[in-house]
Amino acid sequence: MAKVTPEVFDVILIGCGPAGGAAAVTAARAGLKAALIDKARFPRQKLCGGLFTGRAKSYYQEIFGEKPAPETMVEKSSVSFWQAEASLGTLEDVPPLYLTMRWDLDHGFYRHAMAAGVADFTGSRIAAFDLAQNEVVLASGQRLKFRVLIGADGVNSAVARQIFGSAFDHARIGFGLEIEAPASPPDAPVRIDFGAAQWGYGWAFPKA
Ligand SMILES: Cc1cc2nc3c(=O)[nH]c(=O)nc-3n(C[C@H](O)[C@H](O)[C@H](O)COP(=O)(O)OP(=O)(O)OC[C@H]3O[C@@H](n4cnc5c(N)ncnc54)[C@H](O)[C@@H]3O)c2cc1C
Repeated sequence: MAKVTPEVFDVILIGCGPAGGAAAVTAARAGLKAALIDKARFPRQKLCGGLFTGRAKSYYQEIFGEKPAPETMVEKSSVSFWQAEASLGTLEDVPPLYLTMRWDLDHGFYRHAMAAGVADFTGSRIAAFDLAQNEVVLASGQRLKFRVLIGADGVNSAVARQIFGSAFDHARIGFGLEIEAPASPPDAPVRIDFGAAQWGYGWAFPKA
């Protein structure tokens, strides 16, 4: 059977979270031929509290050319601090904090990348990296060639594992647990609880 010549991209991005989405749009706007690979199809859920700072919001606008859709964010301006059941006080009028759902936020990154002309390989698993040939092999058998490979595939990055042997130092990893709790009153502040975990803290972000 004839060998299929792999499609060549200036940049291949792996992962369409905030890092990969921003890099994909930036590459495409710079006139580069870019491809975006993610094992998920979008929209997808992502383990994350989804708190977005004012600074993150202005970066979003700078990179994507528009503000995140307001209906996807709940704005808060107060934070209450707790030690288990004991209230330690509330800060009022803090700079705005935006509570987002990663389902919506990351779908926005994906849509911006597609609108910028990035080639869509979401919903594709990677079978292998061939770094000698500058190629990524997808589970479908398709080979994609890159000039630059950007690993934006999160905490358990396959790109980092390929290059460094592991994505993070197992002796130094921290843990986060997330649950969806019953709805708080709409005016509930962001809550930080220093009694929720030994050597850690808990947080509650009331949102959609
Ligand atoms: C419990 C918890 C709460 C958090 N709360 C907050 C918060 O409130 N505010 C905040 O700013 N940050 C928060 N974070 C941190 C935040 O989620 C990360 O910093 C951020 O998502 C990192 O973005 P990223 O683009 O690097 O990777 P990610 O957002 O993790 O995106 C990685 C992408 O790569 C894809 N991928 C992974 N492996 C592969 C593979 N082998 N092949 C193809 N695709 C792959 C994934 O599907 C995913 O879409 C929280 C994290 C946790 C765990």
